[in-house]
Amino acid sequence: MSRGEHTRAVHSPAAPVLGQLPMGLPVYRTAAFRFSSAQEYTDVLGGEAAGYSYSRVDNPTADAFAQAVAALEGIGLDREVVGQPFASGMSAISTVLMALTRSGAHVVAPREIYGGTYGLLTTVLDRFGVETSFVDGTDLDAVRSAIRPETTVLWGETIANPTLSVADLPGLAALAREAGVHSVVDSTFASPAVCRPLEHGIDVVVHSATKFLGGHSDATGGVAIGAPELMDRVRHDRIDLGGMLAPDEAFLLHRGLATLPLRVDRHSRSAAMVAAGLLGHPAVAGVAYPGLSTHRDHALAAKLFDAGRFGGVLTITPRGGLEAGMALVDALRLVSTATSLGGTHSVASHIASTTHRQFSDEALAAAGIDAGAVRVSVGLEDADDVLGDLEQALDRL
Ligand SMILES: *Cc1c(COP(=O)(O)O)cnc(C)c1O
Repeated sequence: MSRGEHTRAVHSPAAPVLGQLPMGLPVYRTAAFRFSSAQEYTDVLGGEAAGYSYSRVDNPTADAFAQAVAALEGIGLDREVVGQPFASGMSAISTVLMALTRSGAHVVAPREIYGGTYGLLTTVLDRFGVETSFVDGTDLDAVRSAIRPETTVLWGETIANPTLSVADLPGLAALAREAGVHSVVDSTFASPAVCRPLEHGIDVVVHSATKFLGGHSDATGGVAIGAPELMDRVRHDRIDLGGMLAPDEAFLLHRGLATLPLRVDRHSRSAAMVAAGLLGHPAVAGVAYPGLSTHRDHALAAKLFDAGRFGGVLTITPRGGLEAGMALVDALRLVSTATSLGGTHSVASHIASTTHRQFSDEALAAAGIDAGAVRVSVGLEDADDVLGDLEQALDRL
């Protein structure tokens, strides 16, 4: 039977099915997958047969990315860990928090926490009966005292923004075990090329893959990694919440991973050089970078982080407060004024007027953030050029 033009246009010959593995990661840019029978369809949906049904549920390209991150976070582990892919870092964070809490539950989180996570806890989960105590995350006694019978999650950030304080991961993991609750760490600022929290006993690691994992500021995504049983729960809630990673984004993020250790090593070495180079500048009141021996958490960072890798982000406090901070950013020629971090290009943002704009002067002071502080994510340019640009901008203050 000869099929008509429209039918032929829609039902083009199928692409060859390969028995080989391609060198590049195939992008399964499809919303749905076909089944060979009604029985196979129901078996895949029921989990009785392996296979894919719908790309919000699972997608091979997204899976490949999540398992690639799990492989990096799982270096040195003698237990199996798996990853779940997400459309963004916030999607990973919201889904993990919803999977591990319920109405009436309680979370202990650091005061110095990513703004989106703070907003989620205080303006969204709060409406669903989940309460959060914010404490000094670097003070384990404060974390311990905040734990209640209803607590289900201890939250942490490996490296926190913008003071670059470092979480005592083994201590946090031990507290969580003692209390019978889950420990979850946002390791976006570190990446597995600096520190792998699961090695230190943390239950779940989450990332904004938009930052160092992708590394090129051209794709948005997130990922959560943990034990298979826990990730099954997270996947279940991800399916219903809908924050699945798209296949094209998964491809870009996966490609970024191949150079993650190379990039993060260079980001770290350049950031260390820039941080040290700025310390003596007369317009600089302080530089926060965990690789500097002057940083409060340097010893802890040296213990937990891979040798010579303290991450690519530092915070510069110029003399002169808010005006000096904004003028510093405006005087930069090579370093871009932009949000985000962890990409090929160096970027700077004045903290009080951008990422922490909702903080009052008192709240900034309480968090130890100077009104003039500027966060810099050191890119892959020559470190001398980045340092030179910051120096010429500081010279003009
Ligand atoms: C950017 C970021 C997030 C949120 O990630 P998105 O991909 O923007 O949703 C979460 N945590 C930290 C520490 C971040 O820097």
